[in-house]
Amino acid sequence: MPASTDTTPRILLTGGAGFIGSHFVRTLLTGGFPPLAGAHVTVLDKLTYAGNPANLDPVRDRTGFAFVEGDITDAALVDSVMAEHDAVVHFAAESHVDRSIEGSADFVITNVVGTHTLLDAALRHGVGPFVHVSTDEVYGSIPEGSWPETDPLAPNSPYSASKASSDLIALSYHRTHGLDVRVTRCSNNYGPYQFPEKVIPLFITNLLDGQKVPLYGDGLNVRDWLHVDDHCQGLALVLEKGRAGEIYNIGGGTEITNRELTERLLKACGASWDSVEYVEDRKGHDRRYSVDWTKLRDEVGYSPRHDFDTGLAETVAWYRDNRTWWEGLKQERTP
Ligand code: NAD
Repeated sequence: MPASTDTTPRILLTGGAGFIGSHFVRTLLTGGFPPLAGAHVTVLDKLTYAGNPANLDPVRDRTGFAFVEGDITDAALVDSVMAEHDAVVHFAAESHVDRSIEGSADFVITNVVGTHTLLDAALRHGVGPFVHVSTDEVYGSIPEGSWPETDPLAPNSPYSASKASSDLIALSYHRTHGLDVRVTRCSNNYGPYQFPEKVIPLFITNLLDGQKVPLYGDGLNVRDWLHVDDHCQGLALVLEKGRAGEIYNIGGGTEITNRELTERLLKACGASWDSVEYVEDRKGHDRRYSVDWTKLRDEVGYSPRHDFDTGLAETVAWYRDNRTWWEGLKQERTP
């Protein structure tokens, strides 16, 4: 990674007040990515319903941390912030599929226009690497086997279509302009600080409150679960050792049906199947996701370290111990 004149890398991190971005910031600033030790980090975040300043409290006073409240579609702001940085890790997005089914305008504006605004500014100021954080959902749904990075894109939800669009624009900035863009596509993340609208924190917090959990359709949709810490380790490796213009899948290695996931969560929370309510399936619900992440393993040495059952138990414990973090969010912000 190129460095600023005083050799301290300055990383612009968009969406750093959200679930995954804040984990990346907390890990980086507490020494969890040794090759990035000492890096300066600026979080640029609009603080939408999903952005929570409290997620950054543990590192707010660390040397090298700065926070800018703002929108990635604000070209003037993005331009001035970009000029002060050497690299970008771009997390900011509208990220919830169900919300994109209710209304997708914000998804197109933030995920497509916002990404384009950042790329344009990075190109003007010669900033790179630009790590664009994307999702396995851009590949669509796969009945068997796993997607390599070369598979065609076939997104099905407005969310995944907006992410696929942003992936293509990002890659075009490499192919056309030579910008050092690196795209990552990860599977479903879980861990602490995840907004309680996504399935794992929604189910955990409902069960901790003695409420029912809504299971979509027949519950047989398959997801590959990736601990947020493994995802962030993979991103740090791509930032450090990845190649310009390349796509890297990041998987967790735990493929289970939503029924199996529910079963584990019920057990961890001391509840029974009486707490499960089958609800009408999500529109256009992808049946199965599965990424082949051998490229990331072979090129940069990635390997997920978190065992799923242990990670899930720790996640349940975190929500049990941090009610003040999620209780208000559930009451005020979920639709
Ligand atoms: P999140 O919804 O928890 O956080 C998104 C963050 O982006 C929030 O802090 C929000 O305030 C900010 N943001 C939204 N719109 C913005 C805008 N216009 N300008 C500036 N900031 C804005 O999301 P997450 O789960 O942390 O996901 C981070 C990234 O990872 C996203 O790009 C998402 O598509 C991708 N991803 C997530 C998962 C997952 O399982 N959570 C899986 C695959 C890919």
